[in-house]
Amino acid sequence: MARKIASAAVVGAGVMGGGIAALFASRGIRTLLLDIVPPDLEPENIGDPRQRNRIALAGLDAVSKSKPPLFMDPWDADLVSAGNLEDDFEKLGDCDWIVEAVVENLAVKRGLFSRIEGVRKKGAVVSTNTSGLPLKSISEGFGTEFKRHFLGTHFFNPVRYMRLLEIIPGEETSPEVLDFVADFGERILGKGVVWAKDTPNFVGNRIGVQQIVSAMREMAGCGLNVVEVDALFGPVLGRPKTALFKTCDLVGIDTLAHVAKNTHDLVAQDEQRESFEAPGFLKDMVERKILGNKTGGGFYRSGFVDGKKVRQFLDLEKFEYREASKPDFQCLVAASEAKSLEERLRAVLYGEDRGARFAWRVTAGSLIYAARRIPEIADSIVEIDNAMKWGYNLELGPFEFWDALGVAQSVGKMKTDGFDVPQKIERMIDRGHVSFYRMENGKRLYYDFVSEDYAEVAVGDSVVSLASLKASGKKVDGCDSASLVDLEDGVFCFEFHTKMNAINREIVEFMDKALDYVRDNGAGLVIGNQAGGMPGAFSAGGDLRYMGALAKEGKFEEIETFLELAQGVMQKSKYAPFPVVAAPYGLTLGGGCEICIGAADRIVAHAELYMGLVEIGVGLLPAGGGCMNLWKKSTQRILTSVKGLDLAKFFASVFRNIAMAKVSSSAAHARKMGFLGPEDRIVFNRDHQIGEAKKEVLRMIDDGYFAPVKRPLQVFGDAAQGVVNMELNNMLVGGFASEYDVFLAKRIGYVIGGGDVRVDARIDEDVVLKLEREAFVDFWKESKTHARIEHMLKMGKPLRN
Ligand code: NAD
Repeated sequence: MARKIASAAVVGAGVMGGGIAALFASRGIRTLLLDIVPPDLEPENIGDPRQRNRIALAGLDAVSKSKPPLFMDPWDADLVSAGNLEDDFEKLGDCDWIVEAVVENLAVKRGLFSRIEGVRKKGAVVSTNTSGLPLKSISEGFGTEFKRHFLGTHFFNPVRYMRLLEIIPGEETSPEVLDFVADFGERILGKGVVWAKDTPNFVGNRIGVQQIVSAMREMAGCGLNVVEVDALFGPVLGRPKTALFKTCDLVGIDTLAHVAKNTHDLVAQDEQRESFEAPGFLKDMVERKILGNKTGGGFYRSGFVDGKKVRQFLDLEKFEYREASKPDFQCLVAASEAKSLEERLRAVLYGEDRGARFAWRVTAGSLIYAARRIPEIADSIVEIDNAMKWGYNLELGPFEFWDALGVAQSVGKMKTDGFDVPQKIERMIDRGHVSFYRMENGKRLYYDFVSEDYAEVAVGDSVVSLASLKASGKKVDGCDSASLVDLEDGVFCFEFHTKMNAINREIVEFMDKALDYVRDNGAGLVIGNQAGGMPGAFSAGGDLRYMGALAKEGKFEEIETFLELAQGVMQKSKYAPFPVVAAPYGLTLGGGCEICIGAADRIVAHAELYMGLVEIGVGLLPAGGGCMNLWKKSTQRILTSVKGLDLAKFFASVFRNIAMAKVSSSAAHARKMGFLGPEDRIVFNRDHQIGEAKKEVLRMIDDGYFAPVKRPLQVFGDAAQGVVNMELNNMLVGGFASEYDVFLAKRIGYVIGGGDVRVDARIDEDVVLKLEREAFVDFWKESKTHARIEHMLKMGKPLRN
């Protein structure tokens, strides 16, 4: 019988256990969360279940309050039931998967598993979230049935947001169980699965910690401070903004020192073992309890100078905090002029100054270290690259990074600088191979050190890569900003690919053309794209610069003509004779949101969806059909006929979303806000999203799709201003709105209500679209709107004037 996870248990309600339980619940899985009975329970509380469950309840409470949120919908917390390891232990016997996430202590974990072995039902999966304890030590002496179902599932913190899930097979784990957990992790939980071997700290942390500690060891010799190192090891090299030291502050200096020591102790054979030996300052920090964010200071802290809050860094020589001056390295200046990540990292690592020399020494050392770890910790470079991208949020894994640097050139420099280049790399170059990855017939190949040849990077059946399809000649038409890609079976994908996927005139014009193409040559359309990064941006909204230029020259008629074109294309798509499915993920704001709710019949969203009509933030309103379509989508959900003033609560919800520029915190939340309807779907794995959207198109065709018929729209009419005034009053009192917001919001309410008509009137959609356009053009004539837009373009955040 096919294996199913109908109910799960997580043992250990700390940081990781709570996060794993929240992920399971967000996926709709009933989850038992157990922890110990507090050892210090007062005699009068010994029989009180709430007191006995205090630790698990506190864990659940912490997860519920966490920021950013770990539950995708706060109501998901109802699916988690907290208990304790004495009174509720038998309940583990009902669970299909038991995940252990208790303290990192071998004796504690073994003691727990021996009890679990006694109660688990036959066939139940049991996994450990250990960061580094050997699986073989944990399961030593247990029975075969247990061992066949036991494995390592190493989630990363914060569980909801970190994509990496390392799966570590035990010596006797059955292949069926491994395949099941990998598929479940990938498809159902949306994780990126990396196959790791049972070696110290597995893949991500072995490579990641080696690089961090070796950078710490190297910096003193190069005379660099914390701020300088972070300037070099941040976004300029495709790493997150938290760079090296801000990441350490987040993780906790003690945790890092512990993992480094632990690894050092366990990797006696490691040729770079010393690179795990913590430098003196790290040990001093642990001793002095300077542990990072949890103690209010680590490598950085917020300090006060003359009563003003300033950011200070820890001067590691004097062991005191001070303010930093901007790092001054020629290599960073050169990188700031580069046009791509590849150019940027070359500018830094092949630079000449002391910053560049430091970055090069650390990088060269860690690339070599990674190469030497195959096949010890993982079978291929793909596993290591994925682990580092998904577990450390790097844009490129080590071997992709190495390709970007140029393998031959960097190896030449390594040799000149006295690095011991692994023989397998030398052999690869001798055989004439110049990169670790290459594309062939639209397929991505990687260099395999065992066969000394290229092999195909395995991708699941559900994974659709637009880049690979385009590389294999499946792009049927395109322009600078967008492409039309053949997904086969009569389904095409309209993909836009501008910076942050902002919607410009070219995209709108090309979409018009693409719709004609699909009408004549296809059966259905997906609107989607696959920009990198997490959460990424389906679209950050309309291109403000284009409109701004028109407004500055007073070309208001042109603005209105453009809006008419955009609205027309949305309507053409909505009423097209074929199904259209939008596949949004990550940031889906303004125009990006309007495309989803306006141009598509259905939405297949990624679980991490930050969707909203935020135009008021720049002094505008949604005028690509957004006001009308959110109202339509919200009222279409009404099952019985709701009329007159009973529409008020629907109106208030749409009005609040737009007038307060509300953005969803997940796809589940977007559904509650009315951006997604009951027929729209949510997928957890972004790599599967386009494939799932295509399946949805095919399903709709199979169900006998026919286009919606345009009908008059029921509106709230002249009852709108009453609700608007009440809502605005609340917003003003709560300090959520400025006078200018009120001015904008009143007009927005008027537009959503359908203008000067009676409550419950039925009006043509075009009437509302015209109201949107008129308001939009009028807003552009206001100086405060211009100020908001300029601020947004310069600072990247809204101005409340
Ligand atoms: P934590 O300290 O936040 O939580 C550990 C939990 O174990 C606590 O709730 C504690 O009450 C419970 N516990 C203590 N003694 C126990 C006992 N004798 N029996 C049963 N439970 C007991 O720790 P965490 O960070 O959640 O780590 C849990 C596991 O996950 C560890 O193995 C850790 O190495 C691993 N891990 C941690 C991270 C991370 O970033 N924190 C990442 C990946 C893996």
